[in-house]
Amino acid sequence: MSSAEPIITISGVAKYFGKLKALSGVSMNVRPGEKVVIIGPSGSGKSTLLRTINRLETIDAGRIVIDGSDLDDPKVDINKVRMEVGMVFQSFNLFPHYTVLDNLTLAPMKLRGMNRDEAEATAFALLDKVGIKDKAKVFPAMLSGGQQQRVAIARALAMNPKIMLFDEPTSALDPEMIGEVLSVMLDLAKEGMTMVVVTHEMGFARQAADRIVFMDHGSIIDEGAPSEFFESAQHPRAQKFLEQIL
Ligand code: ADP
Ligand code: MG
Repeated sequence: MSSAEPIITISGVAKYFGKLKALSGVSMNVRPGEKVVIIGPSGSGKSTLLRTINRLETIDAGRIVIDGSDLDDPKVDINKVRMEVGMVFQSFNLFPHYTVLDNLTLAPMKLRGMNRDEAEATAFALLDKVGIKDKAKVFPAMLSGGQQQRVAIARALAMNPKIMLFDEPTSALDPEMIGEVLSVMLDLAKEGMTMVVVTHEMGFARQAADRIVFMDHGSIIDEGAPSEFFESAQHPRAQKFLEQIL
């Protein structure tokens, strides 16, 4: 696996919001099947970095290549690239006026050209996998936060993406629901999904991550395998951050 070409290549990326430099000189490669956990203080650019990977944000300098497609190449169909990159947000973002089943079948039918039977079979298999097959016909508002987030993960997986991005997927959840979502994510990690995860759940990071990336003020300032990172973060700011959250 370690010899494979990166599926995500980020080189020298900068991003401004007006005068604010949200990302600066960010470079990071992710190989197929790798799991990268991004940590860092609030405002350090973690969400912005994730959002550049499926071009929810454009960039002002540098280059991002996803599975061979340069996101700034005008010949690249960005919607096609996005189909390969699933994203799960802190706030679930389910369609409130559609049932759970419809949340899972709409995009595969529209964008992947699946027929309804195919899309529903996939949806039921995924709902089973995330442990809520019995909720297919209900609306998101009738579910707990943990259940909604598991639906959101299933919905992203329904597109059969090559990469999954998670932006603080458990931060909005009551403590007793965090475990059920992390357990779904751990299963996904074990199955070999390529994952980039912004999270403060260090137990998950230790268990699932191949690499921890620490961001501060829009830059990656430290990184390493979880064992080495947690034992001996090199950068003082990373050390201080770990002292605060561990
Ligand atoms: P993090 O996810 O690490 O908390 P963000 O990537 O959300 O950080 O934000 C990085 C910086 O960019 C912050 O200073 C934030 O206020 C700013 N920022 C993020 N999104 C926008 C936006 N759409 N417009 C203006 N500033 C933004
Ligand atoms: Mg964020």
